[in-house]
Amino acid sequence: MIRGSTELVAIIGSPIAQVKSPGNFNAWFTEHGQDLAMIAVDIAEPHLASFIQALRGWNNLRGCVVTVPYKQVLASQLDQLSPRAAALGSVNVIRRDADGRLQGDNVDGEGFLKAARAHGFQPAGSRALVVGSGGVGAAIAYSLCESGVRQLVIADLDQPRAEALAERLRSHFPLLEIGNRYDSLEHFDLVANATPVGMGGTGEMPLPGVLLETLSPTALVADVVTSPVLTPFLEVAQGMGCRIQTGPEMARAQMGNLGAHMGVMPVDA
Ligand code: NAD
Repeated sequence: MIRGSTELVAIIGSPIAQVKSPGNFNAWFTEHGQDLAMIAVDIAEPHLASFIQALRGWNNLRGCVVTVPYKQVLASQLDQLSPRAAALGSVNVIRRDADGRLQGDNVDGEGFLKAARAHGFQPAGSRALVVGSGGVGAAIAYSLCESGVRQLVIADLDQPRAEALAERLRSHFPLLEIGNRYDSLEHFDLVANATPVGMGGTGEMPLPGVLLETLSPTALVADVVTSPVLTPFLEVAQGMGCRIQTGPEMARAQMGNLGAHMGVMPVDA
């Protein structure tokens, strides 16, 4: 029930009908007796700047989750960014401070890592392969670097994009081994698909079958794709005895990070 006293958070993007966050956040607010609610807001791009300006004066709004296609464009329209959001040039959550200032962060990578740790993955000293160097791949790669991986390899069909990300990360984490080359999966403790490949039940794989045969059975294999939950990539990994992490597990793990940034729930919610 939204009352006059209810404080709001929003999720903004376009389109918006497909997002799961309002259901998850509102269920949590209700279960925990909070006078808070999340609304889904579909904003057309030409009106984004005036919407952001209105947020500064929106006194009963605590913050916004940001989704496609506005994660990058909003990074340049806020009052302050966390170091990782600044490094990534993208935000997926905004806090509105009491004085109206808008503070951006990107917790995609933290949500991914929280889910991975729950599967027993220990990032410090590990070797990780991230396939996909777009918004989500970059956020996962940044968080892996922050948590002290020994070796990070970033792959992408768009090779210059993967190389540019590796270069950028090397400038932030000069002591880590960050590259774009690999010819086998056998040494990786984590192999993550951070591309949309496999989404919508196409049956496509982000890595060729011959490479997948080299997966170590001790590896954690993760996918960011949320539908289907069990992608063909994860099915193959599971068949080889690997632990797997699904896209919905990453999304669920991230809820606390998003809520904590907006100041409406604890980070481990
Ligand atoms: P993006 O378009 O920014 O990046 C995708 C990257 O994948 C591109 O660089 C592209 O070149 C690369 N790519 C595509 N096919 C490839 C292939 N076969 N091999 C190697 N690289 C390939 O997209 P994004 O914003 O990073 O989103 C990626 C996916 O993550 C989407 O499916 C999105 O729905 C999902 N996502 C999941 C969560 C979650 O919580 N599970 C959160 C956010 C986004």
